[in-house]
Amino acid sequence: MYIDSHCHIDFPELAERMPALLAKMAENKVTHALCVSVDLPDFPRVLALAEQYPHIYASVGVHPDYVDTPEPSVEQLVALSGHPKIIAIGETGLDYFRLEGDLEWQRERFRVHIRASRETGKPLIIHTRSASADTIRIMQEEGAGTDKGGVAGVMHCFTESLEVAEAALDMGFYISFSGIVTFKSAKELQAVAKAVPLERMLIETDSPYLAPVPHRGKMNEPGFVCHVAEFIANLKDLPLPQVAKQTTDNFFNLFKVVA
Ligand SMILES: [Zn+2]
Ligand SMILES: [Zn+2]
Repeated sequence: MYIDSHCHIDFPELAERMPALLAKMAENKVTHALCVSVDLPDFPRVLALAEQYPHIYASVGVHPDYVDTPEPSVEQLVALSGHPKIIAIGETGLDYFRLEGDLEWQRERFRVHIRASRETGKPLIIHTRSASADTIRIMQEEGAGTDKGGVAGVMHCFTESLEVAEAALDMGFYISFSGIVTFKSAKELQAVAKAVPLERMLIETDSPYLAPVPHRGKMNEPGFVCHVAEFIANLKDLPLPQVAKQTTDNFFNLFKVVA
């Protein structure tokens, strides 16, 4: 069995084909998925999916790429994450690739999420792009990691260097790989995935984006996460059932899910 640790199945292009998407999950033995929140206005539809389906979990947070959206407060995130199906805070983090200019608001928003994670004990889902130094610095300053009394979380859709991975691992974080790792051009990332211990690894689709080989270019969906596991098994020269079981156990351990 496999778990998709990060997807956006509340987005209309996926939500409108939910029956087919759930059937594909079952066919490919993808037993659970975490539907990740990107802003507060759309949070109700994320929560609704988690309430409707026992094997779908959800998070609450505001993505760093969302500019014109209500800013969350620590109190709000704490209150919204009180629901038993809300197992994480995020996605949050920094993205200097998509946006330019004074991004102090992004850093402040990130700090708010880390404070909410510490207060609730729910792990963080961190997105970082072209901003790894500031991301790691703020994680340290706010005590996001288990080394400073936080509960850590996951560096999702990881595309950074091994050095950044190691800094996050040192803080107790897991590293999650998406379909990007299966791309022919992703040689450096494949070397990182080879070095990250399986005991600290998660797999994800980040669907509807980034479909893994052999579906590259098509719309992605949680059922395709098995292809990420297959690629990692090959890369690490490990039996596929071992990668499937360990990444599944890692998900349950990190998010304290009893399934
Ligand atoms: Zn992301
Ligand atoms: Zn995402």
